[in-house]
Amino acid sequence: MMGKEIKLNIDNRQTFVNLTIHTMPDSPSPKKRPWLQGSGFARGRKSQNSKFYESTAWRKLRTMFIRTNPVCIECGRAGAVVDHIVRVNDDPDRALEWSNLQTMCHRCHNAKSGREAHNK
Ligand SMILES: [Zn+2]
Repeated sequence: MMGKEIKLNIDNRQTFVNLTIHTMPDSPSPKKRPWLQGSGFARGRKSQNSKFYESTAWRKLRTMFIRTNPVCIECGRAGAVVDHIVRVNDDPDRALEWSNLQTMCHRCHNAKSGREAHNK
């Protein structure tokens, strides 16, 4: 296994966390985003995001984020979901950007997802 380190600036507080992302040894480019592979991603089909959400990088980031921000930003209850402010489909480059994340509870997240689906 080969590892790639990325640094995350946590909440602009000068606290950097090292994430080691394990990539397959045959990944030729550090810019490669495994979750973007496959046709149809750019057209925004929901199933194309599943690789991203299963990625080690996302899981680590999500775990850290919800520890740092445990409360739903909309209702103040205990959060359960780390939501992308700009959706992964809309800007894949921001998928792992700390400032693009927000904690939500299931209820508020479902409401937001419903609104987004409605706006299509
Ligand atoms: Zn909520």
